[in-house]
Amino acid sequence: MTAIFSPFWTQLEALVAEFGLPIDALVILGNQSIREYCSQIGFPELETSNTRAAKCIKSVSGPMFLLWDHTDPVDAMVPICGRGFPREDIEKLDDPAVFAMHLLLHEIAHYLRLDLHQDLPTGEIERDCDAWAFEQLKRFRSA
Ligand SMILES: [Zn+2]
Repeated sequence: MTAIFSPFWTQLEALVAEFGLPIDALVILGNQSIREYCSQIGFPELETSNTRAAKCIKSVSGPMFLLWDHTDPVDAMVPICGRGFPREDIEKLDDPAVFAMHLLLHEIAHYLRLDLHQDLPTGEIERDCDAWAFEQLKRFRSA
């Protein structure tokens, strides 16, 4: 299976650092799914899907951004495509590096924008995270 995130490790680490977050918060999982990882660290209740692409864990010791390297990009695109973004934004995600960055930025948004998300329904939170990630990509696109 193609690795989705690990080929862009350097860029993804740079993104985490850009937002003042510790780079060891970035965890790219290979053979282990996000669900298995959550169980292993003692939080089986955090994830019920075997195919979760990415997840932000907000622990007392800080954030963790989990990315699953064997994510199926087609599956991962389904929710994003359902959120009504312009075609030119969606098409940027055809670039594998941009796709990986957008998914990580989405998870970073869950952490940085937590206060703004307090009273929003889940669908709006997810849309806000995607919108913020598209906005941030404009800063990093040329990098
Ligand atoms: Zn999300």
